[in-house]
Amino acid sequence: MSSAYSYACRDCEGMEACPASVVAETEAEVWKLIELHAQVAHKENPADWDQSTKDYIGTLIKSVSV
Ligand SMILES: [Zn+2]
Repeated sequence: MSSAYSYACRDCEGMEACPASVVAETEAEVWKLIELHAQVAHKENPADWDQSTKDYIGTLIKSVSV
């Protein structure tokens, strides 16, 4: 068993219908996957996210054991 980080898009306010979730070994990789997902699935530009948005998303990233 080792530790990892996960993010489920449905945990994000307004994204309850989104089935996507990501798991990766590092928090940095999870962030990259979240950014890619937001671009492809939600047509968002992560470069536009302000600090409060990033802080909010950060609270949704969970530490898990895999
Ligand atoms: Zn999503």
